[in-house]
Amino acid sequence: MAPITDDIFENTEVAFAHKTDAELQKAKWLFSLIGNNKLVAVGTSLAGLALKLHLPISPIFRLTVYDHFCGGETFAECKRTIAKLKKNGVYAMLNYGVELKEEEEDFDKTIEKNIEAIEFAGKNKDVKVLCIKITGFGRFGLFEKIQAGGKLTGEEEAELERVVARFDKVCKAAVKNDVAVYVDAEESWIQDPLDAMTEEMMAKYNTKKAIVYNTFQHYRHDRLKYLKQQLAAAQKGGYTLGAKLVRGAYMEKERSRAAEMGYPSPIHADKAGVDKDYDAAVNLCLDHIDAVSVCVASHSEESNLKAIKSIDRKGVKRDHPHILFSQLYGMGDNITFNLAAAGFNACKYLPYGPVKDVIPYLIRRAQENTSVAGQTGRELDLIQREIKRRR
Ligand SMILES: Cc1cc2nc3c(=O)[nH]c(=O)nc-3n(C[C@H](O)[C@H](O)[C@H](O)COP(=O)(O)OP(=O)(O)OC[C@H]3O[C@@H](n4cnc5c(N)ncnc54)[C@H](O)[C@@H]3O)c2cc1C
Repeated sequence: MAPITDDIFENTEVAFAHKTDAELQKAKWLFSLIGNNKLVAVGTSLAGLALKLHLPISPIFRLTVYDHFCGGETFAECKRTIAKLKKNGVYAMLNYGVELKEEEEDFDKTIEKNIEAIEFAGKNKDVKVLCIKITGFGRFGLFEKIQAGGKLTGEEEAELERVVARFDKVCKAAVKNDVAVYVDAEESWIQDPLDAMTEEMMAKYNTKKAIVYNTFQHYRHDRLKYLKQQLAAAQKGGYTLGAKLVRGAYMEKERSRAAEMGYPSPIHADKAGVDKDYDAAVNLCLDHIDAVSVCVASHSEESNLKAIKSIDRKGVKRDHPHILFSQLYGMGDNITFNLAAAGFNACKYLPYGPVKDVIPYLIRRAQENTSVAGQTGRELDLIQREIKRRR
């Protein structure tokens, strides 16, 4: 294997080999559009309004952002996307993109959808993982009450049991089909009960290999310590720790809630503190790679570069089955495809589902691409460089 060079993520030929000229032109148009803050602000509030009024806006999304950021509306459509990724050495992790439901029947439906996806993944070895959210299995308010130390009523106790039963059903199906389940980390004020449930499932289902993974948000200043505790618990309990490492998606919300309610912010004071913890977490996992199965889920070129250099330096196999890199479908292609070409296990987070249900996810992607400093500029620059190279 060729040694890692600092410019590994600059290779646009590898990054966009899966895109036709027409698809590249469309991506260029899309990132130019979502690079315009005003346009995104107006567009997203109009889309939000149209959703509330049940206006038929799905075709607009389908023609613009959907295909760029999502796998497809059905498994048959996803199969085509997955095959295209695999042709370039990249795996897929599926996420049923429907969010923010609050009724018991919605929770049961989400479980059905998740099990369908696990069975699909079981038959399609290029899909390694299903990503889930426990707030898809139960009420946000219930988790909030548990974490706040409120006493549950008899009905709420029964509600909680149903959440655990749903989660357990998904994990059982995952073991049966040999598919990993990554549990998303959510807001800090509901995260404790989510962690407790995930820890229980890991102890139960990770005895032979990591099937269930928790997510560690390193923008929280207590998470590196928690990761260390979890590693020790797994070693003591004789199971593999599954750890997806992220920085965290709810920074503004976390800070403003803490300020409003007058408690210390759980978030690091600055980005440097987050970066330091993130890279330390990657190294901790690499140093205990027999005991942890890790997913480096980041769009930071710097963190990914540090991680792959560490892997080589520590003499860990690049395609070690306990290491997976992941970026969102439609973003960070220069990272994912160059990692795969260099022999690392790389995959794309691929949301799927009916266009209208995935719209909130798409709105977040558009907003994120305007708010993340330089992200859109970087994506656009890489696309333009590849268009020029192909001429
Ligand atoms: C496959 C995948 C799965 C994910 N799953 C989850 C999940 O389960 N839960 C979740 O919360 N997020 C999840 N995310 C999102 C992730 O947490 C980040 O929001 C996103 O990836 C940006 O961080 P980065 O490491 O890619 O890159 P960077 O661009 O290096 O970092 C940006 C991030 O740094 C942090 N940050 C920025 N400025 C500051 C500051 N001033 N002070 C403190 N922190 C700061 C924020 O977390 C911000 O999102 C996932 C991302 C991916 C790719």
